[in-house]
Amino acid sequence: MYHLLFLLLLVTHPLSIVADDKIGHTTLNNDIVAEHHHLGVHEHGRGSLNFAIEGDRISIELISSAADILGFEHKAQTRIQTLAVDNAKMKLKDISNIILLPSAASCKVDQSAVDLIYDHNALHSEFLAIYDITCEVPEKLVKIDISYFEIFEDAKKLTVNVVGSKLQKKIEANRGLTEIDLEGIS
Ligand SMILES: [Zn+2]
Repeated sequence: MYHLLFLLLLVTHPLSIVADDKIGHTTLNNDIVAEHHHLGVHEHGRGSLNFAIEGDRISIELISSAADILGFEHKAQTRIQTLAVDNAKMKLKDISNIILLPSAASCKVDQSAVDLIYDHNALHSEFLAIYDITCEVPEKLVKIDISYFEIFEDAKKLTVNVVGSKLQKKIEANRGLTEIDLEGIS
């Protein structure tokens, strides 16, 4: 299934393949980060956000194609592209550029990390960002506001998976639907 989707993606982006392939030959030595996370099939325009609440702790994982975050997926070749990658990582590291949690919940980020992962041909790449958060008043976690679309203009959709102790749900967020209800989740 994944392979099929990947092929479809390649077929639907013939121009980008030609451009990426040229660069791919010179950049085959992949990053160490690939050891932690193997690039899955991604759809340009659609990212995924996994949000898990357990007591006063929240774990969040964001996966977005570099096309959505940077506008290109090949390895940075110029100083401007390198700066764009650094800037994107810096933005992603700040959870407020992804989601806003209710201030009444008094949440703080314990740690966050961002990786940019390339596939073995350097045709596609995606960002993986993780956040560990603790909230002083978890009962006030009644909703999430998605700020991601305001920050990343090429991002169009975000599949949000919310998992709590009582309920789990999946929401297809987009530029017109940016509020996720957390009532009854945990
Ligand atoms: Zn891609």
